[in-house]
Amino acid sequence: MNPEFIRTICPYCGTGCGIVLKVQDGRAAASYPDRENPVSRGSLCVKGWFSHEFVHHPERLTAPLLRKGDAFVEISWEEAIDLAARKLRETASTYGPDSVGGLSSAKCTNEENYLFQKLIRAAFRTNNVDHCARLCHAATTVGMLQTLGSGAMTNSISDLAGADCILFIGSNAAESHPVLMGEVYKALDRGAKMFVIDPRETPVARNARKLLRLNPGTDIPLLAGMMRHIVDSGLHAKDFIEKRTENVEALRTFLQAWPLDKVASETGIDEATIREVAETYAKAENAAIVYCMGITQHACGVANVIAICDLAMLCGQVGKPFSGIYPLRGQNNVQGACDMGALPNLYPGYQAVADAAIREKFQKAWKADLSDKPGKTVTELINASGKDIRALYIMAENPCISDPDVNHVMEALQRLDFLIVQDIFLTETAKFAHLVLPGACFAEKTGTYTNTERRFQLLHKAVDPPGKAMGDFEILCLMGKALGLPFDYASPAELMAEYAGLVPAYAGISFDRLERAGLQWPCPDEKHPGTRFLHGTTFTRGLGRFVIPDYTPPMEKPDAEYPYYLNTGRVFAHYHTGTMTRRSAFLNREIEDPYVEIHPDDASALGVGPGDWIRVTSRRGSIVTTARISDRVVKGSIFAPFHFTEARANMLTNPVLDPACKTPEYKVCAVKMEKDHEAQAR
Ligand code: SF4
Repeated sequence: MNPEFIRTICPYCGTGCGIVLKVQDGRAAASYPDRENPVSRGSLCVKGWFSHEFVHHPERLTAPLLRKGDAFVEISWEEAIDLAARKLRETASTYGPDSVGGLSSAKCTNEENYLFQKLIRAAFRTNNVDHCARLCHAATTVGMLQTLGSGAMTNSISDLAGADCILFIGSNAAESHPVLMGEVYKALDRGAKMFVIDPRETPVARNARKLLRLNPGTDIPLLAGMMRHIVDSGLHAKDFIEKRTENVEALRTFLQAWPLDKVASETGIDEATIREVAETYAKAENAAIVYCMGITQHACGVANVIAICDLAMLCGQVGKPFSGIYPLRGQNNVQGACDMGALPNLYPGYQAVADAAIREKFQKAWKADLSDKPGKTVTELINASGKDIRALYIMAENPCISDPDVNHVMEALQRLDFLIVQDIFLTETAKFAHLVLPGACFAEKTGTYTNTERRFQLLHKAVDPPGKAMGDFEILCLMGKALGLPFDYASPAELMAEYAGLVPAYAGISFDRLERAGLQWPCPDEKHPGTRFLHGTTFTRGLGRFVIPDYTPPMEKPDAEYPYYLNTGRVFAHYHTGTMTRRSAFLNREIEDPYVEIHPDDASALGVGPGDWIRVTSRRGSIVTTARISDRVVKGSIFAPFHFTEARANMLTNPVLDPACKTPEYKVCAVKMEKDHEAQAR
């Protein structure tokens, strides 16, 4: 049979590149770049090129599985849905509505996320629903809502090509969002100046005018020092501040506490460099700030985001093309999962559950009685498992790799009365489930993802799920009906019409309009072309508000017992918990084994050579891995990718939370290292 070519969207990072899947004899045989996709315009990174490789992997789940002792047995879908609904209903009626919780998924479509949060809220009268954005960009949502009024990327990816100055802070986009970096390279070719602020010399830094290797967790002092110098030099955008913002006097007072000599001593960056970066940013016609989890995954992540927003407003570098703030969303649909209300305090479209008028609107539309009490976050749901939380429904998330202090996560999940995991593989988390439901991957479903620039894009089903596995949309419809909800949706397109009617910013979006180029929200009516950049004439909240970014140093600093800083992150060939990329033969061959990067001086002091086995230990756990000797890390710091189940970096990380957004401080903790002679001898 002749092959078919089906347009869809990459299942990995939030860039949202277009893929054309070649389908031969019912199988996804190859992935090609989609030249017509407006985001990637014919580019893919290595992960995209090999996105088809895991689709038909022999380890795919093919039937519902029920735990019997230490083993799983296959059961029918009828039995599985009936059991799931019965157990969840029994739990809620025995222990109360808030004893049930759900983790939705940044890997699943908008329509699936909308259905999941609606199911948890409407069937059980609880807001105990969250997803892994809590672990990455919750700080962005909270910080940007306070300052700008919208928690999304202000501009479009293509705007980066027109920037004259780009600050990269805590983002390794060259490995995490490689196609987006293409726009940055275009800017550099035009002569744009790029500064990279990161303790580690990531590949982004190769093209930087300067790399500022600041002390871990000192972003606020650095940003405050830059703002102080900008104000002292009169480089701030006086007219913009006067007309478009409020509370600048409070910021001025705050900046008095950050003279440059103090900033230099706190951050480790010399005063001349701070002045140079501040002046270049403030004087640029158009300047952009790109950031990622090096900013958000701190105990002061919200304050870090606020400081970035303050800097952009101070210089008038927001609300116009080629400038703005670019929080790079890590997962393919983490933006969409947030937009769709897979959050414990917000309905779809960031509408507060605590607002009586909003709640009334959703109650009427859903014909359901809804709770006014914000629910528990990911980390709170895990911590409360087996205590307040008795049953948990996890859709396509893998907290046994992704959450901090995973020993604690595994203990908690085992305390649950009933755990349902819906996924495509028997993940580390699914192994603890009482009931496993086999879902579908990106190539097997129709729906939409929203990329990091707020663009809804269409996925087209290319192949069938394996065996008896089913699309997550179809599973959720069955589950909803079993729980007595009117989940009779004929298609994801029909469901979209429901949420477009409930969220003014999506009112003009429909499947028919998405076919070629997608649409960027806000898109308030059927004729609206979508929005390339936000905050043009007015901020979403009205006036932009300068908020004081209170500085909290890292909660765990190196000491005599644990003398090194640990930093975690991604590598180019792998993605998140490795569930998909580590089942791609090509990608796995690129980087097969876990490792940590160690500075040559530290390696020599420990007697460790390249490839040696070492044990890394924190106050929470210990892993055995191999050493890569590299001056990409500074002396006294090590870096570990977090994708590897056999050496889970999140065994080590600190679960201490940012109090405002409940994101853990993944980026900084203290560890010790020793050569592992036993592993070395094997
Ligand atoms: Fe996929 Fe991201 Fe690579 Fe694009 S940059 S191909 S979306 S992983």
